[in-house]
Amino acid sequence: MMETNSKVLKVTSFISEMKDVARSFKENDLNVGFVPTMGCLHEGHLNLIKKSLESCDRTVVSIFVNQTQFGPNEDLHSYPRQLQSDIEKLEEVGVDVLFHPTNEEMYPSGHKTSLQVNKITKSLCGKSRPSLFIGVSTVVLKLFNIVQPNKAFFGEKDWQQLAVIEALVEDLNLDIALIRVPIVREADGLAMSSRNCYLSPQDRITALSLSRSLKQAVDVIRQGTTSSKVISHLIQQCLLEKGGLEIDYISICDPKSFKEKEQICGRTLIALAVKIGKSRLIDNCVIEEF
Ligand code: AMP
Repeated sequence: MMETNSKVLKVTSFISEMKDVARSFKENDLNVGFVPTMGCLHEGHLNLIKKSLESCDRTVVSIFVNQTQFGPNEDLHSYPRQLQSDIEKLEEVGVDVLFHPTNEEMYPSGHKTSLQVNKITKSLCGKSRPSLFIGVSTVVLKLFNIVQPNKAFFGEKDWQQLAVIEALVEDLNLDIALIRVPIVREADGLAMSSRNCYLSPQDRITALSLSRSLKQAVDVIRQGTTSSKVISHLIQQCLLEKGGLEIDYISICDPKSFKEKEQICGRTLIALAVKIGKSRLIDNCVIEEF
């Protein structure tokens, strides 16, 4: 017999209501897990939610397409939105609360504060998207203040974003445990992303070159190549092989400081960002010390 979930999903768009719920969780000594998202939920999001459901008494998910992290020529207006089917997915897995505020609720006129994490936000995605991490840091801190979670779950797909949030939690002395969750991929290797739905069938095939180039890089490194220049060139060739793709960056760097490495030694992050059609896609892998 199929097991049906008996929990009722509470849905709210209001900060005051979300804060009331958060307060009642605290008063009842419940451990709260939080998964912030921009919606259009896929298995990558659902895996974060699963980890929260497994380890927390209550799970809060937010869906908010955060305008402040998009630059003027980015995809804010076309970003995929599908609230109804997201709600069905959240109900099915047994999430307790969905917080989906409006822009006006999060950024009423007169909102003047933003938060900047320094140093690690200057390279990789921060270089090509200068407003990204200020927007992300500000909204995540606001969401943490509203939801008051004990644990918050983030995907390693957005490796640099995770490092930025780790820095803000540490620097601002927040009592929140951040849980890192590995990248969830499609069967053919493509990292899941809400933006994958923009891809035409041809672009979808082109997009496979991201995970394929990372895999090739790992294989060559395992065979003994340590020069970042050589690895970077190999990745570039693999990405550009079939055309239809523009490279934003290929970074071979320290996974914490994001300083570029000339040689692969010690733990190393290989991170990529490309544009395919309208979509900007990212992927990464970490070479553990060997
Ligand atoms: P987004 O809705 O794209 O802002 O992502 C919300 C959260 O889901 C972030 O912590 C992402 O890193 C995470 N996430 C998105 N895609 C994946 C994926 N394929 N695997 C793991 N985590 C993911």
